[in-house]
Amino acid sequence: MAIGTDFVAGGLRDGLVLNYASEREMIQRFAGPLPERGRPIDGLLDELAEVAHWSVAQSDPRYLAFPDSGSSVAAALASIVSTFLNQNLITFDRGAPAASVIELQLIGWLRELVGYPTRPLTEYDGLRGVGAMWTSGGNMSNHVAIATALAARWPQVHREGVRGLPERPVIVLARQVEHFSYRAAAQVLGLGSDALVWSAAAPNHTSDVAALAAALADPPDGARPFMVVGVAGNCRTTGIDDLAAIADVCAEHDVWFHVDACHGGSLLFSERLRGRLTGIERADSVSLDPHKGLFVTYPSSYLLVRDPADLARFARYPEKLNDPDCLDLGLITPFYGSRGFESLRLWALITHLGRAGVAALVERRQHTFEEMSQLLRDTGMFRFVGDSDFYRCAFVFCPRPAGELLEQLSARRETRPPLRAIVSKYTRAYAEELYRSGAVVFDLFALEDLADRLGLGTTDKFDVMGMCVGHPDIDDATRQQITEHLVATGEKLMPAMLAELRLLGDGEAADDSCLVLGPAGW
Ligand SMILES: *Cc1c(COP(=O)(O)O)cnc(C)c1O
Repeated sequence: MAIGTDFVAGGLRDGLVLNYASEREMIQRFAGPLPERGRPIDGLLDELAEVAHWSVAQSDPRYLAFPDSGSSVAAALASIVSTFLNQNLITFDRGAPAASVIELQLIGWLRELVGYPTRPLTEYDGLRGVGAMWTSGGNMSNHVAIATALAARWPQVHREGVRGLPERPVIVLARQVEHFSYRAAAQVLGLGSDALVWSAAAPNHTSDVAALAAALADPPDGARPFMVVGVAGNCRTTGIDDLAAIADVCAEHDVWFHVDACHGGSLLFSERLRGRLTGIERADSVSLDPHKGLFVTYPSSYLLVRDPADLARFARYPEKLNDPDCLDLGLITPFYGSRGFESLRLWALITHLGRAGVAALVERRQHTFEEMSQLLRDTGMFRFVGDSDFYRCAFVFCPRPAGELLEQLSARRETRPPLRAIVSKYTRAYAEELYRSGAVVFDLFALEDLADRLGLGTTDKFDVMGMCVGHPDIDDATRQQITEHLVATGEKLMPAMLAELRLLGDGEAADDSCLVLGPAGW
């Protein structure tokens, strides 16, 4: 317990978000032979403190890479309790009597938030009406969604497999706003990644609805689209699709509409913000990821299915589905056997704060995100790529003088590829320098500049940084500290970047060896 609180308070990590060590160094630190003899608890506690020392604190407000703050005290307490309870939600009797009911109630609340039909739990009449399951993450929720949609269209797939289907099943989704889980699921489920039919993204990093419709209207030969993915908050810029429009298109073409609300799901709690997800109630299935933006720790994800009968198809003993005295959740949860009481954390959060309390946190976080975006802008160090719909934005390192050079140089088309390379390179250097210092953490990933904000073309990817705000509040002293680190890092890298841009302007190839960079040696 003391190790946990010391870690969260910062003492165990020298007041930094993390103490950086390379992969090799970390292996050196913890590798060892199978211990023949154990050590007493005191010695073990020292080891655990050492593990904490080398861990990343997502609960620190200077951690700005993902929204997974896990900062709810109610959820943390529930987590400790659930460890001691050690329930197994595969069954009610002999496994998890109270826990099964708690999870069912939580599922009912989540369905209500999405806008799905619900009934009071007191009217429970069997597993066929549950219509949701806990999973270990959005990746798994999306796997279950695809398996569910596939069997809804072709029930024979459970017996005959994919090869027994009269048509080739395909999923239509937009490229550039997609999550890797769809490709992974297509591979794992035997559809093959060729079963993904890609359509275009709009300049604001959402699915282009007309392009989705066109792909549905004209599928590849022999293929039958059975699912469309709508994105309620893409994982790069949090762009939210026009879900109502996609619902119309899906209805017209009679395909399953899945909404990936792993990020956007938290907005459902807020009366003020949930309007951005209008249309989600028409989805056939929805993935929610409370461990991503609802302040609870891993693992917490849910797949909700509008018509519970579609999930009930996975029942191991179909005759039990209509039994009002059967509460064995393990009968309808594909992929899982024994599993723990992970739902207690989200249940505790909602029980402690109420819907309105969670909404207040989500709204305050939104406000904090907007202020933090302004803080980034005010440093004069960055250029944004794409728009952000809620708590995450993407940007490159491009201090004002570099931006001016960029503008002049990009007039010549042939300099655009090397300019892109320079911007990417210094963005990478910036993110790494900052990360290794342990003072502030941004995300680093690749993104197309679909709206051509940088004037360097829309088709090739840039290395960009991402800022994601997972905390409702960041105090003034912390903001000040963040600003200082951002400016200092920028000033350190700027001379080399300007020199390289000028070289390019003079028509000379960039020479990596003349870079003067920090000791991090990226
Ligand atoms: C994060 C994410 C997922 C996967 O969730 P995990 O919890 O990491 O398994 C799926 N879809 C989207 C849009 C995501 O952002």
